[in-house]
Amino acid sequence: MISLHSEEFLEFNISDFMIPSERVAHVQVGNNLEHALLVLTKSGYTAIPVLDPHYKLQGLISTPIIMDSILGLERIEFEMLEKKRVEEAMNRTISRLDIDASIQQSIALLVDHPFLCVENKEGFFEGILTRRTVLDQLNKHLRKLNKK
Ligand code: AMP
Repeated sequence: MISLHSEEFLEFNISDFMIPSERVAHVQVGNNLEHALLVLTKSGYTAIPVLDPHYKLQGLISTPIIMDSILGLERIEFEMLEKKRVEEAMNRTISRLDIDASIQQSIALLVDHPFLCVENKEGFFEGILTRRTVLDQLNKHLRKLNKK
């Protein structure tokens, strides 16, 4: 059972565990789907954030979303990759985390998402928090508690 001491862990700020924006692969709303597919494939990530030219978070794009958006009635219309822009296909309804949120607030959302985008009060993109990082930190914290 997680002891009362672990409350200390839940009170961490998410900025302590976040991957900062400069290390996050992303695309811009105006990029075409071919570019987005290239970034997704090269990075090996399933989904990445979409930003506007001011670095504000606009949504997420993933390989399944891209494939779905070029799916014709009888074939995959690969030629559309070059013609369609990311903003026409991206998912705009995403869960967001405020930079000042606590780990406890993030855990509830991470149940349903492998990662969450973090933004500041003005909506500028700050980075991402992954389920892997939070579980890794929790694991380290629990091991430390068990040694005491
Ligand atoms: P991971 O926990 O490392 O497997 O990451 C889970 C998901 O978070 C990945 O599939 C990506 O969608 C996203 N992700 C993790 N790290 C990055 C990064 N540096 N840039 C963009 N997306 C990332």
